[in-house]
Amino acid sequence: MDLDVLIIGSGGAGISTALKAKELGAKVAVVTKHYPTNAQTSMAQGGINVALGNIDKDDSVEAHIKDTIISAKGLCDDGMVKRMCSNATSTIEWLESLGVPFSRIDEANSAIGSIAQRKLGGASHKRACYAQDYTGLKLLHTLYDSANRAGVEFISEYYLLDIIVESGVAKGALFWDIANGQVRVIESKSIILATGGYAGIYDGYTTNAYGVVGDGIASVLRAGGVISDMEFIQFHPTALKGSSILVSESARGEGGYLVNANGDRFVDELAPRDEVARAIFDEIQKGVDVYLDVRHLGEEKLYELLPQEMELCKLHEGIDPAKELIPIKPVAHYSMGGVDVDDKFMVNGIKGCFAIGECSNAKIHGANRLGGNSLLEIVAFANDVAQSSYEYAKSIDSDIEIGISHEIKANRFIDKILEQQSCNIYKKRADLGRLMYESVGIIRDGDSLSDALDRVMLLQVELSNSGISDKALKHNQNLVEYLELYNALALAPAIISSALAREESRGAHYRKDYPSMSDDYTKHTNISWRAE
Ligand SMILES: Cc1cc2nc3c(=O)[nH]c(=O)nc-3n(C[C@H](O)[C@H](O)[C@H](O)COP(=O)(O)OP(=O)(O)OC[C@H]3O[C@@H](n4cnc5c(N)ncnc54)[C@H](O)[C@@H]3O)c2cc1C
Repeated sequence: MDLDVLIIGSGGAGISTALKAKELGAKVAVVTKHYPTNAQTSMAQGGINVALGNIDKDDSVEAHIKDTIISAKGLCDDGMVKRMCSNATSTIEWLESLGVPFSRIDEANSAIGSIAQRKLGGASHKRACYAQDYTGLKLLHTLYDSANRAGVEFISEYYLLDIIVESGVAKGALFWDIANGQVRVIESKSIILATGGYAGIYDGYTTNAYGVVGDGIASVLRAGGVISDMEFIQFHPTALKGSSILVSESARGEGGYLVNANGDRFVDELAPRDEVARAIFDEIQKGVDVYLDVRHLGEEKLYELLPQEMELCKLHEGIDPAKELIPIKPVAHYSMGGVDVDDKFMVNGIKGCFAIGECSNAKIHGANRLGGNSLLEIVAFANDVAQSSYEYAKSIDSDIEIGISHEIKANRFIDKILEQQSCNIYKKRADLGRLMYESVGIIRDGDSLSDALDRVMLLQVELSNSGISDKALKHNQNLVEYLELYNALALAPAIISSALAREESRGAHYRKDYPSMSDDYTKHTNISWRAE
């Protein structure tokens, strides 16, 4: 393949960037470990932030910037935040032009001024544009339709094993071809990681899908790049108690209350997520159950505004929210840390490798992301990332040549997994999830973090000495899930070490042994691996 830009990941970030790169004239392909629309983006419910002022007339780009900076608690790059918020209106215009069916104040009016907006936590105004509570799904399907029409090439069921880097320069990537059971090499002048976040490492205690373990971020670590701010995991206040499925902030944005078992409200429902999650966690620690109460909104309004959440409550919790309280708990939801990028989105430490979306740390969200800012980030920066990577690709005037050693090493790695005695990887994954929630969760302390680090390192050694029971080459899901656990266990020590190093509390990172924010830590936590 003679590619200018290889995009890994087909969520909102990957497909938006592919469309923009194609528009620029780049030879581009998008690779995914699933199928194109099977991405976390499709689960986003609440909305995408754009200060249109359609409902709150005094909203403004400045207010959006201010809210984002306040929520980030000193850890964002103000210039990058400004860039994203200033791009927001053109972003929504672009999505409208592609056909995303946003909910409207007046259904008969197709002007941008008629897009409906709701308030999400930490926002000073009703700013989130939405498509009922199917915002991400409709956005992603529209992007995918547009990419197909534009002739973007998609390669499905290719699992990224590693980025190929020679002398500090990215030259392509190694994949496991799931359907055919073979290692594949794709060469490209530039590569873009759009592989999503790592909150799925908290298996059993996360709104994320099972495969969301930060594969791309782990591949950057192995390739010598820098990752940063890994300790900042956002815990969403309201997941269903039994299944951890999200009940979006939109339910509180539309007027839902949080109550304890005595029926008392105990927190401002639309305070930033870290504060609400800690308040709920405190109640649960005291042995008190916590509920979301939307009954007063009435069945008609609930079905009009939150149809998906109504059905999810019925299906997964056996609850009719129009008549009953919804039992909830806070769980891992979003990862603020990720691949460290510069202002051109190039990965710190790997030339020619770029990153966008939840896998990247573009210093937008800092210590605490605002609801609605992630969908904005993944689309608002697509053009900039496409431009940077294509400019870089055009600066490479020779053909890409890759040594054979990468493929040989990858084949040896897979053979070893297939040959070694099998272990129960699913139990290990569940153990890891529980350990992370209990010791590296909403409230942390030095002793439990140190203990968690020892236990994770042990799990890492155990996994590397074991294999899987299914020895088939083709369509081997057992192998894919081993690889995901392998990556989760590469990143868990990075999360824990970063949390240990940050001896303060800031946003989503709360240490009970250091409960205050400290000026000594107004800095980012960087991690890279040194070759031995
Ligand atoms: C339940 C839920 C609700 C949310 N609601 C909102 C909301 O209302 N508003 C908001 O702003 N944000 C919301 N978020 C956050 C937001 O949806 C995500 O941050 C965003 O969609 C991430 O997009 P992305 O393109 O970066 O990653 P993803 O959509 O996660 O896509 C990652 C892609 O990378 C691929 N990939 C991963 N690993 C590999 C590999 N090894 N090899 C090949 N391909 C790989 C995946 O298959 C996928 O295609 C929500 C998140 C969740 C979980």
